[in-house]
Amino acid sequence: MLRTMLLAAVLVTPIFSAAAQDERNPRHWEVHDRERAQPAIIDSGTPTALNEVGTAPSDAVVLFDGSNLDAWQSPDGEPAPWKIVDGAFEVVPGTGGIETRDGFGDVQLHVEWSAPDPPVGEDQDRGNSGIFLMDLYEVQVLDTYENQTYPDGQAAAVYGQYPPLVNAMRPPGEWNTYDIIFHRPRFDDSGALTVPATVTVLHNGVLVQDHEELTGPTGHYTRPEYEAHADRLPISLQDHDHPVRFRNIWLRELELMR
Ligand code: MG
Repeated sequence: MLRTMLLAAVLVTPIFSAAAQDERNPRHWEVHDRERAQPAIIDSGTPTALNEVGTAPSDAVVLFDGSNLDAWQSPDGEPAPWKIVDGAFEVVPGTGGIETRDGFGDVQLHVEWSAPDPPVGEDQDRGNSGIFLMDLYEVQVLDTYENQTYPDGQAAAVYGQYPPLVNAMRPPGEWNTYDIIFHRPRFDDSGALTVPATVTVLHNGVLVQDHEELTGPTGHYTRPEYEAHADRLPISLQDHDHPVRFRNIWLRELELMR
């Protein structure tokens, strides 16, 4: 009995000492401890309704509010060449992808997008774009409303890795929302992976990716391994030759809240 208790103490002690380092850990506090810091008060903005675009929370980094593409650029640093139409912006086929001027790591990212109406093409050749977290990890944008393709390549798939749990697509011309929670991978000083990236996605408010662990960067008919990279990298949007529209893009930097 004593031996069991000692063993338990040895096993438990490191967990509690680690807890003391982490103020988010409930074990660091008494239950209902009023000494804990109060959460910051923010204005949560308004969610997008079917016929009305929403607004960003007050603590968000706004990447597109309908007015300009100043937060974006071509990979060569030139101004983003996509066009603004009716409070949205549209991929200009052949001009190449665009990326945020700033880099980001762990984020809550809100993006809205709309597939061309009337629809053109089929399978992967229909309303295709993509959101690349850290320019490496793609959440697919594709018109998969009454359009079949391989499951790990449809809308809201982690491309080449995880099909969405359900297909929540709205018809072409209607707005889709993605709410993405992404945690970047962690690497040790030698460059070895210590924690894989994870992603959670809600498509039109419906959970479609539930904290999935990424196998590595996105590949097309390949499954690349992780390679150590910076803690903050741009978010990029794909030019896949289709005039997909985007609007109301904002993010909250999760590592700044901890
Ligand atoms: Mg794509």
